[in-house]
Amino acid sequence: MKKMPDDRGYFGAFGGRFVPETLMAPLAELEEAYRKAGRDRGFQTRLDELLEHYVGRPTPMYLARRLSARLGGARIWLKREDLCHTGAHKINNALGQALLACEMGKGRVIAETGAGQHGVAVATAAALLGLECRIYMGSEDIRRQELNVVRMQLMGAEVTPVDAGSQTLKDAINEALRDWVTNVRSTYYILGSVLGPHPYPMMVRDFQTVIGREAVVQIKKAARGMPDLVVACVGGGSNAAGIFSAFVSYPAVGLVGVEAGGRGITPGDHAARFSEAGAPGILHGTRTVVLQDDDGQILGTHSISAGLDYPAVGPEHALWRENTRVSYTHVCDDEAVAAFHLLAESEGIVPALESAHALAYAVRVAQSMPLNSNILVNLSGRGDKDLAEVSRAEGDAP
Ligand SMILES: *Cc1c(COP(=O)(O)O)cnc(C)c1O
Repeated sequence: MKKMPDDRGYFGAFGGRFVPETLMAPLAELEEAYRKAGRDRGFQTRLDELLEHYVGRPTPMYLARRLSARLGGARIWLKREDLCHTGAHKINNALGQALLACEMGKGRVIAETGAGQHGVAVATAAALLGLECRIYMGSEDIRRQELNVVRMQLMGAEVTPVDAGSQTLKDAINEALRDWVTNVRSTYYILGSVLGPHPYPMMVRDFQTVIGREAVVQIKKAARGMPDLVVACVGGGSNAAGIFSAFVSYPAVGLVGVEAGGRGITPGDHAARFSEAGAPGILHGTRTVVLQDDDGQILGTHSISAGLDYPAVGPEHALWRENTRVSYTHVCDDEAVAAFHLLAESEGIVPALESAHALAYAVRVAQSMPLNSNILVNLSGRGDKDLAEVSRAEGDAP
C-alpha cells in the first residue's frame, strides 16, 4: 500500500494546505521539525516514557463478557482509551505535539476546543512541560462545559471565549488560527484531530497510531487472531485513524467508522458527513468532505456528543471511504444513549457518548455474527463528562 499522504500532503484528492500566505512557511517549518523528530531517537524515547508513566499506556484490551453474552453473538472487545490520563485518547496527540513545541523552542501553545476534552489534554501537557497555554472555546460551549473550563484554568491555562458565529468549535478554530498567524514565532498551534492543513492530519494520526499498534498485538494474543471487525466513532477522526491505520493492511479485517446521526438525517440535525449532505469542500485549511448546502454554505450540525459535532471529517477518512477500505455509517442520539446505559449496566463501565456511538454499532451487528467471531470497539473515552447531558436528554434535569 502507498504511504499516505503524498509529499504535498494529499490523501488522493483530499487534504493539502489551503491557508493564508503567512502560514505557508510556518507549516513547512512544522513539517520539517516533525520529520526530524521522527528520526530522533531521543524524542521518541521521551514520548514513549511519558506515554507509559504519565498517560498510563499500554491501555488494556478488555473482553466484555457479560455484554457479549447478553447480545448472544460476536465477542465484543474494548480498547480502553477511557483509562488514559485525562479520560480519553486526546492526550496521546496533545503530549506528542507539546513535546514537538519544546523541540522547536516555542514557549507558548494554543489550541481550540469544543467540549473541552482537547483543551484539557493540551492544558495538561502544557502544565507538565512548563509551557504557556491559551485555549480558544466558543462561549456557547463554555456555558455547556463549565467543569472542563475550571479544569483547564486549574492547570494554569487561559481560556478565551469566542463570541463569533455559532460560538462553538468551528468558530474557536478560526480564532486559534488568527492567533497563530499573529504570534507564529513564539507560538505552537496544537490541533486536536486529523484535520486542518498538512502536516496536521498526518501528524495527529501518527501520534494516535499507538492505539492501533498496541491493539494489534493485544487482540492477536487474547483472541488468538485478528478481529473480524474494528469499530470506532468518527468526529474529526483521530481515534478512528489511530486504530484503523494498524489494521488497514489486513484485508480480512472489516473497518467501520461511526458518525453522529443526531436527531436524524435532515439538514442541521446531524453530523454524518458521509450521508447525503456531505460533498467535497474546503474547511479550516484542508480539502475534504464537508456538510454544506447547494450554495456551498457550511450547514449547522447537531449531536448529543460534542466531540462528534463538527461539519467536516479528516481527509484520510474521505479517501478511505472513496476506495471503500473503511465503511462509514451513523448512529443517532437515542441509540448512543441506549448503548451508554447498556455498557454501564452490563460491565460497570461508563463510556463517553462519542464512544457509545461506536459501541451502539457493535450492539447492532453482534447478534447476526457467529459466536466465535470478534468485534473490537475503540472505547475512546470515559463518560463522566456526559452524565448531565444524558440526564438532560432523558428529561430528569433542566
Ligand atoms: C474528541 C473525542 C472524540 C472525537 O474525536 P476524533 O478526532 O474523531 O477521535 C471521540 N471520543 C472522545 C472521547 C473524544 O473526546
